[in-house]
Amino acid sequence: MLQGKTAVVTGSTSGIGLAIVRAYAEKGANVVINGFGMADEIEYKRKGIEEEFAVKALYSPADMSAPAQIAQMIAEAERAFGSVDVLVNNAGIQHVEPIEHFPIAKWDAIIAINLSSAFHAIRAAAPGMKTRQWGRIINTASAHATIASPFKSAYVAAKHGVAGLTKTAALEFARDHITVNAIAPGYVWTPLVEHQIPETMAARNMTREQVIHDVLLKAQPTKEFVTSEQVAALAVFLASEDAQSITGAILAMDGGWTAH
Ligand code: NAD
Repeated sequence: MLQGKTAVVTGSTSGIGLAIVRAYAEKGANVVINGFGMADEIEYKRKGIEEEFAVKALYSPADMSAPAQIAQMIAEAERAFGSVDVLVNNAGIQHVEPIEHFPIAKWDAIIAINLSSAFHAIRAAAPGMKTRQWGRIINTASAHATIASPFKSAYVAAKHGVAGLTKTAALEFARDHITVNAIAPGYVWTPLVEHQIPETMAARNMTREQVIHDVLLKAQPTKEFVTSEQVAALAVFLASEDAQSITGAILAMDGGWTAH
């Protein structure tokens, strides 16, 4: 389905991004993996994708808080594979703390990585997509793109921003066969969620079990975590020809959370 196409997935050394990059490779795309981690673990995953799916996989260490590195990552992908056809803006971090104690550096980092990086990557990838008159841009947003939770000011602000960027880019590229959509997952069990448990325990004075059941899954009527593979399956559909008329959409995958 994606043979001959190239997919760049930011923040794909772990969690949702890793599931998406593997799903695209399974469909035949050459992929660019990006994100942080131990060099040997990243190389193991990169090589594993090439061997398992018989595609090419590049690793870009670009820091999504550095605009010049983002532009360079897109340029390198175009040089190596001839095009960037599918761009998934997925890299993200979280910090949980009341506004009056929220570190300013954390606010700046979350806005840069979770929001501005998507702008910079779209800005760099759009000219090539326009020239070829085909493209798929998928932003990993969150249920927090449409609703809020306390103590996540930067994350909620960034994800609402991602929703606005998604809609704006969809309108700008609507005549170029470039679709722009956001996937808005509820809680997915990944390192990002695991890491915020201690902070939430401190912010709300709760035990680990209370955080999992009374904070995280409280919001989700299904009482189940979304899986990275489910998010990846939607990302695959959005990259398909059949998804041509879906653009500017913020697609909830949150076990009914935002139906409240
Ligand atoms: P994760 O921590 O498993 O993965 C985050 C990825 O981003 C990693 O590959 C990490 O190395 C990379 N990253 C972090 N900072 C970076 C930087 N400066 N430059 C480049 N890469 C960087 O987390 P995840 O849960 O898979 O999150 C992926 C996306 O999904 C995020 O945008 C997150 O906000 C969103 N999301 C997650 C959940 C959830 O419950 N896990 C829910 C909704 C949305």
